[in-house]
Amino acid sequence: MARTLASAPLRKPTRRTEVGRGERVLPGAWRLRLPLPWPGVPHCNAFALAAGDGIVLVDCGAHLPGSMTDLDRALDQVGLRIEDVRLLVCTHAHIDHCGQAAAVQERSGCDLWIHPRHEHLTAAADDEEAALARRVEIARQSGVPEAPLQEWAESRRASDPGFEGPLVAARDLVDGVEVETDLGRWHVIETPGHAPSHVVLHQPERRLLITGDHVLGRIALFFEYGWSTDPVGQFLASLERVEGLDVRLSLAGHGRPFTDFPGHVSGTRALVHERLDAVQAALAAHGAATAFDVLPDVYGERFTPPAVPALLTKARAYLEHLEAQGRARRVDDDPVRWSPA
Ligand SMILES: [Zn+2]
Ligand SMILES: [Zn+2]
Repeated sequence: MARTLASAPLRKPTRRTEVGRGERVLPGAWRLRLPLPWPGVPHCNAFALAAGDGIVLVDCGAHLPGSMTDLDRALDQVGLRIEDVRLLVCTHAHIDHCGQAAAVQERSGCDLWIHPRHEHLTAAADDEEAALARRVEIARQSGVPEAPLQEWAESRRASDPGFEGPLVAARDLVDGVEVETDLGRWHVIETPGHAPSHVVLHQPERRLLITGDHVLGRIALFFEYGWSTDPVGQFLASLERVEGLDVRLSLAGHGRPFTDFPGHVSGTRALVHERLDAVQAALAAHGAATAFDVLPDVYGERFTPPAVPALLTKARAYLEHLEAQGRARRVDDDPVRWSPA
């Protein structure tokens, strides 16, 4: 999941009712379930992998009040400590996966490995006002009315960014890199689309895959918009990249580990195509429409004020993909309107 541009700005934090929990998934692999204060996304997972006299930590949770305590508690439940972390590997630069990376590094002295395309998070963190202005402009061009737009910008200014940098990578997590653990070597596979910085980690002998947010047990889609061309096209290509992997158990960034990886890949792809068809049908119904105009058609009851930023981000990405596919064309620039091609 993400809490970026438009993804979580109107989400008000919910009361904390959960704490971090740890559980063994396999000998030498532990799931650390870390609470998140976001409606609909109650927690994220980090994974601890035994590695020599310590552990490799994959992802680490957001930097929010109580987050470090949750991570400590989850580790403690499985007999581990933050000081055991020898290497921190982040599947992608969303705050629930790398928000407290710098704090983990400071406490453990470990290196960080992450994909170099993390500017979708770090550029925004470096200049929050400029990033907000850019996001407001994208939303305005997408047809969001002025009043809710200003309300969103205000709530965004007041919200906790959930990230404390810097992200200083000792190694770029790109194709070909391997992560050594007691379970064997994990192969890094670049899977952009959900975010430009996304990777998955495959352990072929044990048939394990750390999927991050690329393929989830309970299918949910998000595409970071504005940092790459056609993120939906990239996401579909990234599904193809992982589809043929031999996987017995998937360790995802949210929810329980799951089996039937191929079924989840096809279900994820089917949902992308369902949404693309729905966006195209909405364009046909409207004649010409902004991204904002198509949201009620595509998302029905899920179209609520707090959900608008995330849905809008996705709708822009779908429209860009339809345009790339020759299924839609831009007919106006300000706000941007599309018609069926
Ligand atoms: Zn996530
Ligand atoms: Zn994410």
